[in-house]
Amino acid sequence: MLDFHHTWPYERVKNDLYFEECPFCHTSPVLIPIKKEAVQGAFEGIKAPVVMPCCHERIVIESMDRDYIWADRKLR
Ligand SMILES: [Zn+2]
Repeated sequence: MLDFHHTWPYERVKNDLYFEECPFCHTSPVLIPIKKEAVQGAFEGIKAPVVMPCCHERIVIESMDRDYIWADRKLR
């Protein structure tokens, strides 16, 4: 079940994805360490683990669309 509280917006700049602000430590902006293939997979609902480079918080991206990622845990 996709829950709004598990969403976070991201920006795409060329092939890189950024969070405007980290949902955990509020660093801004943060490059999301995710491979292009994993992004494609996430669009198809294939889970992609990510460790935030700023604070080392772990999330699993369970799905994403053109504006938001859905994580396995609450982000807001
Ligand atoms: Zn952070």
